[in-house]
Amino acid sequence: MAKALLGAHVSVAGGLERAFERGEALGCRAIQIFVKNPNQWRHKALTEDRVAAFRAARAASSIEAVAAHGSYLVNLAARDRSTLERSRRALVDELIRCNRLQLDGLIFHPGAHMGRGERAGLERIADSMNRVLAAYVEREERCGRSATTRLLLENTAGQGTVLGYRFSQLGEIHERLEQPTLVGLCLDTCHAFAAGYPLHRPRGLGTTLARIASAFGPSEPSCIHLNDSLRPFDSRRDRHANIGRGEIGEPLFRRLLGHRRLRRTPMILETPLGPDKTGHERDLELLRSL
Ligand SMILES: [Zn+2]
Ligand SMILES: [Zn+2]
Repeated sequence: MAKALLGAHVSVAGGLERAFERGEALGCRAIQIFVKNPNQWRHKALTEDRVAAFRAARAASSIEAVAAHGSYLVNLAARDRSTLERSRRALVDELIRCNRLQLDGLIFHPGAHMGRGERAGLERIADSMNRVLAAYVEREERCGRSATTRLLLENTAGQGTVLGYRFSQLGEIHERLEQPTLVGLCLDTCHAFAAGYPLHRPRGLGTTLARIASAFGPSEPSCIHLNDSLRPFDSRRDRHANIGRGEIGEPLFRRLLGHRRLRRTPMILETPLGPDKTGHERDLELLRSL
């Protein structure tokens, strides 16, 4: 199964460019990083020196695909104006960072409606995304760059008032977009399973991919998060487990890695590292043996 674009989320401690050596040490072909602290609104500017160091490390690296995961604070469906404005500005800034670093995609969670209801929440997310993408494209054009990093909507487990736990919801958002080619989908296996897509069953992957294809514009996921689930099927709880140690089990991951249509799709682990920090190493070893 060496064909898959297999990888993991890696740390950027000590500098963004350090991600490559960490990914290579794990034998990754794809990596995911944070381009700023995902739990803070404030952050330092990204200097041209840092961008150059990152691009040089990428050029020298065997890693083929690099994605970023967005801030956990951003909520494009936020109820109050100030959080909404702050979220939109933060996402524009994050997209610009990713584009300067020439990343393939910025993965983010659509948002939570906070009691306003699903319909209103989905409309607000689409409206926010249209504003974010317009500001991003305009800023990059003004700086002489074309906007190539795409926003990737990640499906969620559906805890609380979080939206995006049905692919049809992601499809509804996508239908309202003014620049749909700048948006793709990231399939998280733990989230889909927790939201009631039966990925643990033999035909579960096929039916889930068919749902994605019928609901969402671009029919294939642009990225996949490979996570087993600590919580049971349809629990609407988001707790990642190491591969084969959760409720989904190894067979799904064997099917994913061998799937012909997903050969060019980055598959990224976001599983627990564990006390000895070797969780990804062990998961990758297991995945390569499937
Ligand atoms: Zn994920
Ligand atoms: Zn998760």
